Amino acid sequence: MTHNDQQYPTPRVDQINSAFVEAWAEGVLRLQVCGACGQETFYPRPLCPHCWSSDLGWTEHDGKATLVSYSLVMRPNHPAFFEETPIILAEIALRDGPTMLARVICDDPTQIRSGLLLELLPAEEGKKYPLPTFRPVL
Ligand SMILES: [Zn+2]
Repeated sequence: MTHNDQQYPTPRVDQINSAFVEAWAEGVLRLQVCGACGQETFYPRPLCPHCWSSDLGWTEHDGKATLVSYSLVMRPNHPAFFEETPIILAEIALRDGPTMLARVICDDPTQIRSGLLLELLPAEEGKKYPLPTFRPVL
């Protein structure tokens, strides 16, 4: 629940993404890893985008990352976010891993810039967000 008592929209959970979504409910970032080529991928999918193998398993990532680029969303498309603008939506390069789009929580959005080091929100704080959410490393 947010300050305005709106539920955040949640991802549709299916056979492909359930391990990812359920891990984040515990504050863990879980990525697919290919058994054939060894590369980690994001987002969850049935085939490795690098070698087309279906031999995909799961691995945990520590969430250390670098902000590549971002947008400040001033007019969110869901009421749950209205009182939280600007929303920081960022392209994030996971350390030794793939890139992903994710939300960054920062009290002062003027501090956000490309190259900023990021980490996952701590599990207790992060659980309120339905998808992996990051914060600047201070
Ligand atoms: Zn592969």
